[in-house]
Amino acid sequence: MGISKNAQVVLERRYLIKDKDGNTIETVDEMFHRVADAIASSEKMYENGEDAGKLAEVFYDMMTKLEFLPNSPTLMNAGKDLGQLSACFVLPVDDSMESIFEAIKQAALIHKSGGGTGFSFSRLRCEGSVVNSTGGVASGPISFMKVFNVATEAVKQGGSRRGANMGILRIDHPDILKFIDCKSNNKEITNFNISVGLTEAFMKAAEKGDDYDLVDPHTKETVGKLNAAKVFDKIVEAAWRNGEPGIIFLDRLNRDNIVPSQGEIESTNPCGEQPLLPYESCNLGSINLTKMLKKNGESWEFDWKKVEKTVKNAVHFLDNVIDVNKYPIEEIDFTTKQTRKIGLGVMGWADSLLMMKIPYNSTEAIELGERLMKFINEVGREKSQEIAAKRGTFPLFEESILPKDKPQRNGTITTIAPTGTLSIIAECSSGVEPIFGYVFVRNIMDGTEMLEVNSVLKEELERRGLYSEALMKRIAKEGSIAHIEEIPEDIRRVFVSSHDISPEDHIRMQAAFQKYTDNAVSKTVNFSHAATEEDVAEVYKLAFRLGCKGVTIYRDGSRDEQVLNIGKVN
Ligand code: UDP
Repeated sequence: MGISKNAQVVLERRYLIKDKDGNTIETVDEMFHRVADAIASSEKMYENGEDAGKLAEVFYDMMTKLEFLPNSPTLMNAGKDLGQLSACFVLPVDDSMESIFEAIKQAALIHKSGGGTGFSFSRLRCEGSVVNSTGGVASGPISFMKVFNVATEAVKQGGSRRGANMGILRIDHPDILKFIDCKSNNKEITNFNISVGLTEAFMKAAEKGDDYDLVDPHTKETVGKLNAAKVFDKIVEAAWRNGEPGIIFLDRLNRDNIVPSQGEIESTNPCGEQPLLPYESCNLGSINLTKMLKKNGESWEFDWKKVEKTVKNAVHFLDNVIDVNKYPIEEIDFTTKQTRKIGLGVMGWADSLLMMKIPYNSTEAIELGERLMKFINEVGREKSQEIAAKRGTFPLFEESILPKDKPQRNGTITTIAPTGTLSIIAECSSGVEPIFGYVFVRNIMDGTEMLEVNSVLKEELERRGLYSEALMKRIAKEGSIAHIEEIPEDIRRVFVSSHDISPEDHIRMQAAFQKYTDNAVSKTVNFSHAATEEDVAEVYKLAFRLGCKGVTIYRDGSRDEQVLNIGKVN
């Protein structure tokens, strides 16, 4: 199968089976067979199950053609003893020593297996409040987050990956100002992404400039007031400074909580795309949109029949994952199977737009994104209903808020993941993000430089006889092709990169996909270095107005150690 060199390297390093001396003893092809066989084997658990052998072929086929890939833990662990297949978990943290350290232990077990964990620290009493049993004073959520952070650092993930965490604090927690600034030093709490949990009431108060109440989670008493507009500005300023904290809109997560009878959604997974109840886990999978296109004459367009078929097989795949998954703890096994949430999403959106010659920052792209996601969501739901007709609904369906005339197998169907590694394996742009840079210069250890050029751009320039190494180096240096005049205008218009796209258009695209996504959309809004705090504030307000569930921003150059620099990566 046609796997790129980068994909081969990534897979060899962390996905393929190794013997005890560290030698790789599995090929990429064998890996896909291992995964397909393991996931199809769940058919045997059902009296009316399909032919597992035939289904394994269907799964193998769509993975090896790079049309669909499940999240990394499924590729790494399916068919092995470890067998933990989910990327996303949320664990409860109650206001007691037992609960705090139980959560740390559970997180360690999850990280070992390649999953990421989200926590709300909102239930912890604030710093300085009394501890009844000892008469001492509580150290507060932020000091405990540091303990979680150190534990994460220590658990290198069983040769797979280092743990990732999300930490959430509600806007009305008395320690909120400390939380907003707790990552102002880039070297602190490095294993966490943090987000402030905002409420609709807070957003309204901020708009009007009103004060709002701070509530001690332990006593439930109002212990102070802050000015909402000023706190909003503080969040904006901190995010402008170095990208943290992000924001999430808690009321929206709970409006889409399908089983409010089970409690509130307080947190998402580490990258923000998957809100979950405490002890829920979710397995994700992504369709590579560049493989869903067909030629119409000279131009590309979506092959809707192929999208439909792929979505249906993907939903079947992800529902099976729930059954064959080996959960790290008993509560997670139980809670996950109560709602059977899955998170099907997409990757390669920006590359597909390039192939179709539609600029990412155009109304046409935003409308097509919305139409596509609506289709995926509807077809996914149909398939989930089909499975429910054969195998029953998720156990809490009756008490869920879903319409009762259409029994469904899965509590949620769609989620847009970042696809950090999956997009390298599938060799396409990640999630629904625009292209960050078209050309990178990679320094190889012996001092030579290697050019990495976006394949769609390369093909277009070659076709027109414009491709040269000198031109590529110039693109790498400038970080964009917008101002390179020797490239024809019609190419420059289509091949836009993250920084050519206004933050407003970033948010519009996020909102377009969010509209038809059950869970949330992973997206970073890129700002230029020169962007102001007001620019950030405007984007937050726009995201709120357009129905997004959260926002993550990043201003270029605002962290010392930036992973992807425009121009050069080492
Ligand atoms: N994740 C994690 N550690 C990592 C990368 C990802 O725990 O190093 C989890 C996290 O919950 C994240 C989710 O996996 O939100 C999906 O991330 P992504 O789509 O980038 O994962 P991939 O399947 O591409 O590896």
